[in-house]
Amino acid sequence: MESLTNRSIIVSNKKMTFSEKIYLPAILSGVMITIKHLFRKSATVRYPEKTREFSEIYRGQHVLKRDDNGAERCTACGLCAVSCPAEAITMVAEERKKGEENLYREEKYAATYEINMLRCIFCGLCEEACPKEAIFLTDRLVSTDYGRDGFIYGKDKLVESATDRIDISKRQTKEVLEFKKQKQLTHNK
Ligand code: SF4
Ligand code: SF4
Repeated sequence: MESLTNRSIIVSNKKMTFSEKIYLPAILSGVMITIKHLFRKSATVRYPEKTREFSEIYRGQHVLKRDDNGAERCTACGLCAVSCPAEAITMVAEERKKGEENLYREEKYAATYEINMLRCIFCGLCEEACPKEAIFLTDRLVSTDYGRDGFIYGKDKLVESATDRIDISKRQTKEVLEFKKQKQLTHNK
């Protein structure tokens, strides 16, 4: 029968030497490698006592931002959900009522906003799609949990505290930071 390929493997029948048969040199060389690593700088850290330094633009847990007056910036436009490749974002929009101007920046707001952290791949596309600078990824880690339900993050976990703001300026380009200085623009008020 004609072979399908002209590749072939030559199997060696070479007899083992005495030192190969007693395995000692191979064991010693393995031990030497282990000893060498004892004196090298460890590649791992003792987490959680020690943590590594994160990049300034590390993509961790999201934050829903408030504006300078403390009102939620998100207008429930849905662009973040549409751009999300993992379909991790869901929201329910509601219309702002009279007297709620200090709570929500725009006339429409997200009454419910949820991110499924088990689906999220932390790509940052939601951040890029948002026209209201309402959602950003941060250097915070998503906590572990025993059940799947705990990974559905709602507004209680996502909206930043009015008193303890999260600095996201390092995630913005120089151009955006310059643009934001122009306080006469409605976008920046
Ligand atoms: S980071 Fe990516 S995957 Fe996660 S919610 Fe945003 S768009 Fe979706
Ligand atoms: S976070 Fe931004 S993109 Fe997403 S719904 Fe709110 S305003 Fe729209």
